[in-house]
Amino acid sequence: TSFASFSHILDARLLRSLADLGFAKPTLVQSKAIPLALENKDVLARARTGSGKTAAYCIPLVQKILNIKSPSSSNFAQATRALILVPTRELSEQVSAHLRGLIGYCDKDVSIANISSGTTHHLQSRTLLSDKPDIVVATPSKALALLQSKALLLDSLETLVIDEADLILSYGHDDDVRQIFNGGYLPKVYQSFLMSATMTDDVEALKGLTLRNPVILKL
Ligand code: AMP
Repeated sequence: TSFASFSHILDARLLRSLADLGFAKPTLVQSKAIPLALENKDVLARARTGSGKTAAYCIPLVQKILNIKSPSSSNFAQATRALILVPTRELSEQVSAHLRGLIGYCDKDVSIANISSGTTHHLQSRTLLSDKPDIVVATPSKALALLQSKALLLDSLETLVIDEADLILSYGHDDDVRQIFNGGYLPKVYQSFLMSATMTDDVEALKGLTLRNPVILKL
């Protein structure tokens, strides 16, 4: 099966980007996760780097944003719709670059902010408050700091991703992640993805905090 078999659920502009990137057919995790994600299921995936896990959550979350912004959906207000939490600044940059590749043909409709590196808290706050980027990529500590200072507002959140959850926990971001979930920053309803190469007890504990009736993909 090729990505063309997803043409009924994926925007033509996304399919064009995938072709440009040389992604001829979905990897296993992508072929499982993309349709489930577009049915708004929470997804727990045991997926390693190299499995195509990044696109497995990025493709549906971009598609959901395009759906919100389609001409037929009314009352659209610019707001952050997706938060992607990653363990390191390097991965934050990689995921942001991956997203930029995916949105090449729809970058008027989808904006991305990588808030893990670069400028000061003050500048990042100003950018977040003025641009309200559709997608924010961050380490948990950065995301929490900007939530606490009310620069990052997630009341319109549609999708929350915890990528490389095992590393997030082993790097000691546990408390920050808990505060993000328990601090009253998130809306009542949103979709969650939890991606992890290994299923440790710590990841299991996080599952209860972050996922509702998840579909579990053990690949
Ligand atoms: P990841 O597991 O997300 O770190 O992705 C590993 C590598 O596979 C990255 O370089 C991706 O660009 C690439 N990749 C992801 N999905 C596909 C696909 N469907 N076809 C070809 N390459 C892919």
